[in-house]
Amino acid sequence: MTDIEIAQKVNPKNIKDVAKKLDIKEMHLEYYGNEKAKLPLNLINEEHIDTSNLILVTAITPTPAGEGKTTTSIGLSDGLNHIGKKSVVVLREPSLGPVFGMKGGAAGGGWSQVIPMVDINLHFTGDFHAIAAANNLLAALIDNNIQSKSRNLGIDPRTVIWKRCMDMNDRALRNIISALGGKSGGIPRETGFNITAASEIMAILCLCDSLENLQEMCGNIYIGDTFEGKAVYAKDLSAAGAMAVLLKDAIKPNMVQTLEGNPALIHGGPFANIAQGTNSIIATKMGLSLGEYVVTEAGFAADLGAEKFLNIKCRKAGLSPKAVVIVATIRALKYHGGKPLKTLTEEDLEALRKGMPNLERHIESIQSFGLPIVVSVNTFSSDTEAEKQLIYDHCKKLGVPVALSYGWADGGKGCVELAEKVVAAAQTGKTAFKPTYGLEDTPLVKIEKICKTIYGADAVELTAKAKKQLKRFETLGYGKLPICMAKTQKSLSDNDKLLGRPENFNIHIREFEIATGAGFIIPIAGNMLRMPGLPLVPSSENIQMDKEGTISGLF
Ligand code: ADP
Ligand code: MG
Repeated sequence: MTDIEIAQKVNPKNIKDVAKKLDIKEMHLEYYGNEKAKLPLNLINEEHIDTSNLILVTAITPTPAGEGKTTTSIGLSDGLNHIGKKSVVVLREPSLGPVFGMKGGAAGGGWSQVIPMVDINLHFTGDFHAIAAANNLLAALIDNNIQSKSRNLGIDPRTVIWKRCMDMNDRALRNIISALGGKSGGIPRETGFNITAASEIMAILCLCDSLENLQEMCGNIYIGDTFEGKAVYAKDLSAAGAMAVLLKDAIKPNMVQTLEGNPALIHGGPFANIAQGTNSIIATKMGLSLGEYVVTEAGFAADLGAEKFLNIKCRKAGLSPKAVVIVATIRALKYHGGKPLKTLTEEDLEALRKGMPNLERHIESIQSFGLPIVVSVNTFSSDTEAEKQLIYDHCKKLGVPVALSYGWADGGKGCVELAEKVVAAAQTGKTAFKPTYGLEDTPLVKIEKICKTIYGADAVELTAKAKKQLKRFETLGYGKLPICMAKTQKSLSDNDKLLGRPENFNIHIREFEIATGAGFIIPIAGNMLRMPGLPLVPSSENIQMDKEGTISGLF
């Protein structure tokens, strides 16, 4: 059965009955149909947050298919509910880009899914569209200001870095010339589109902690310079109020349910290779206010998502996870051990053994934060008993708790071993979360610490352009911002081809971007795209709807 066929088999509960599990009163629910509701920000309860358990789910370096973090997060949360803990899974919202591009939604898989999966994978409650509207309002205001004579701020069109955005993989919009069409059509300039999930507004929505903070962060967005070289911000265009108004509902977390009827919050969806890659601070805090356990996921592997989750999000929100789950799959470890993608379903103990250093590297990274770890082996039907035994024994030898998880095949009851080990790890009381770098470190020292401690690099190399940009950021007073690395997800290094645990390599920073609204500096290592393209055979070609409206092919 496909994921969508499984999801269509289950009869969802009315969302008010799911809310009851968390003692949410019906009057607090803002309904979007029967199965989705937004929750008001006043349900956040700072005192309860401190007594609750935050569990972060991350992973080893993935194969192109994804290794099952979302599936494991949902299975683990259902597993925790299965053993009597009040758990909420808090996830990111899917982007339409990957939905129609590469096969793979973001609502879990098998018997560990969130529903209604079709809605969640498509327009959901409109948050992404609201984010695009706020983003594009600012873009329109910039071009309008450049066009005007009497209210002109003197913005040099060639320096404007603010781009429009859209939630679609559309390579044709990556680099464009806008404002063609005569005198009333604006001043032509080179620009482009970002995908919404990579926009600064998405990052802001996920890092703000109140309406007031949202508006302030929008105002702080740097858009470009005047002809005199003075930095111009969104607040100089009086844009922040209207932008925040467009986001007034998008800021509220969305509640849905797992296939087992347990609560799920899905909110915000920044990419992890080019943005901070984790759901919103508000949704995480909401989950912690309402449940005993919150299981949340950070995009891609521990070198990207988890590093940013901990150094950017947790630091800003004042949160500390009680335990970190590292998802590993036998097939991905064999891939890191040199086995070709097409043959990963064959047993190969030698390749599995050779791939293990990738897992070890990620374990060491999480240990550097001082956090307890549980390795979760997301089992596939092609895994053999000998392979499972090998990884189990290997983790035991490393002294790291390990569980074999069957969330995809069996839902919550397939994750009971994992849930029990996570509870045990969270109760060790040994969490002493320490970030990789201090905010007072210079940007270069921060970057070096990330590259050495988390990636295992020897050194960091900056191009002349990058050095110049960094100097300007420091002059403008942004030296104390945290770092949001933009790097390939396919390798611990900045070279896609280096699998396993690369050694003797440097990280090359080609250039920088800065997000002064969201509050981070973005070093770009290699060729990172903020507007992806579609693959040769996009998954949209398989998506169909019959005359009753039943959808197929959406994974
Ligand atoms: P991630 O969050 O790490 O990107 P997902 O949980 O979204 O990964 O899973 C990626 C894809 O792999 C999904 O289509 C899911 O159905 C599938 N998948 C995950 N775990 C398993 C498993 N154990 N067996 C078979 N398919 C799986
Ligand atoms: Mg995922």
